[in-house]
Amino acid sequence: MKEYSIEEIKNIARPTLGEEVPLVLFRVLRIIGIRNILGESSGATLYMMGKHVGNMIGANDMKECKDKIRELKVGIPEIEIIDEDNIVVKLFECITCAGFMYTGEMFCDMESGIIAGLLEKVFKKRAKSTQTKSWSVGYNYCEFEVLLY
Ligand SMILES: [Zn+2]
Repeated sequence: MKEYSIEEIKNIARPTLGEEVPLVLFRVLRIIGIRNILGESSGATLYMMGKHVGNMIGANDMKECKDKIRELKVGIPEIEIIDEDNIVVKLFECITCAGFMYTGEMFCDMESGIIAGLLEKVFKKRAKSTQTKSWSVGYNYCEFEVLLY
């Protein structure tokens, strides 16, 4: 099976419909479709997918990392460097959970992976991101704790 690069999928010929899709479609695929097929393993799969994509997109510094998250409309990030190995990323207007009802579970695994993948490129270290807050557990933003190692 061929692996496509970002360059290869960038050409969009939709003169009438344009490049945007309704966010509800993304959420149907992401929150209903993928969970339905992958079940309990969807979190780990989405995290790995996000990390792969974050690595592919890449970023040279923190500004570029923030700009890419915002340009792709994954959310509006606020990044706090705690010490040389620990970073906290708040994500406002998260693509997956912003506006979500309280469900008691967190599922922004793809976003978590994208953040880890981008930060790996910035710091040239491995990164592991863990979601700690979400709309779905009662906050009005998402938060991720990232460990660099
Ligand atoms: Zn989220």
